[in-house]
Amino acid sequence: PIVLGIESTCDETAAAIVQGGTLRSNVVASSMDEHARYGGVIPEIASRAHAQAFVPVVSKALADAGLEVSDVDAIAVSAGPGLAGCLAVGVSGAKALGWAAGKPVYGVNHVIGHVAVTQLQFGALPANTMALIVSGGHTSLLHVEDIARHVDVVGTTLDDAAGECFDKVARLLGFPYPGGPHIDRHAQRGDSHAIHVPQGLTQGRAGKQHPYDFSFSGVKTAVARWIEERKAAGEPIPVDDVCASLAASVADVLAKKAMRGCAQYDADTLIVGGGFSANSQLRQALLTAGEEHGVDVRLPRIALCTDNGAMVAMLGSNLVQAGITPSSTDFPIDSAMPLEQIVMP
Ligand code: ATP
Ligand code: MG
Ligand code: FE
Repeated sequence: PIVLGIESTCDETAAAIVQGGTLRSNVVASSMDEHARYGGVIPEIASRAHAQAFVPVVSKALADAGLEVSDVDAIAVSAGPGLAGCLAVGVSGAKALGWAAGKPVYGVNHVIGHVAVTQLQFGALPANTMALIVSGGHTSLLHVEDIARHVDVVGTTLDDAAGECFDKVARLLGFPYPGGPHIDRHAQRGDSHAIHVPQGLTQGRAGKQHPYDFSFSGVKTAVARWIEERKAAGEPIPVDDVCASLAASVADVLAKKAMRGCAQYDADTLIVGGGFSANSQLRQALLTAGEEHGVDVRLPRIALCTDNGAMVAMLGSNLVQAGITPSSTDFPIDSAMPLEQIVMP
């Protein structure tokens, strides 16, 4: 099938065409620069940017593929999770386009799109696959039995997402938003054993077992306290070492729990996605752990890790191929769409 995918959950307005599992076009416009001076994404600004970019971005995705909207078999759009005002722009636009062109519309789960997109680089998903999705807003370990029909949430973060933790520490170190990539760069020059950074939730909390869950707010607090003590003592902050120690702690626990999940479900494939999977320390930790445990770690190229339209189009393609009923014409957005819900009824 030929599927147009549309993405507007956060600060990227994106559209792409996937035809029979092949990417035909992929257009991304970001409002990140407009948010940088506020130190985080401002929903109102992002919504306005989506309203401006929607038609140009979708038009370009169609033109780059040499298609018109009448040529597509279906339209897929992220219906959640994400910022409500942002989702509303993309979903309204997709519905209007579908209605005018007489095309079915699928309101899909953005996070499951991060899993689906890996098929564009590595081919179809094996029937029994684990997926680690890590970004500024999500840290989830999923078991994917059938991407069109059934996904289980195995673990999730109990507080901050991995990218959020990096961004918060980056702010303390004076890096501009988003700080994750700056930590990555400095970590490459630092000593990861220089500072003791605790690993979030390796044991479980308050007597409860959380073998597959994550917790990064304590990690951030520990690093923040260490920095404050150094400052109070009038000592310089070894920025590279702080970054290297933080990155190693976060990468290790993510890799460890992902491998534990693979063993539990007897899965020999691990899909990785989300903007934080651009992190070089995490990529290295996952590749090393994968080799050790005999798990095929599918790390897509960076452009497919960050938010894009290809992920939405690819998931839409999976749904069309599986014969899943399109969403109703009045399907809602859901800013907290559960990860078990792949598509809006
Ligand atoms: P969502 O959570 O809805 O998917 P998002 O905008 O938070 O949306 P992405 O755009 O996929 O997610 O990822 C952005 C996050 O990834 C930010 O927290 C950013 O700091 C982090 N990030 C990007 N590159 C790197 C890197 N090389 N190292 C560490 N963190 C990174
Ligand atoms: Mg983003
Ligand atoms: Fe995302």
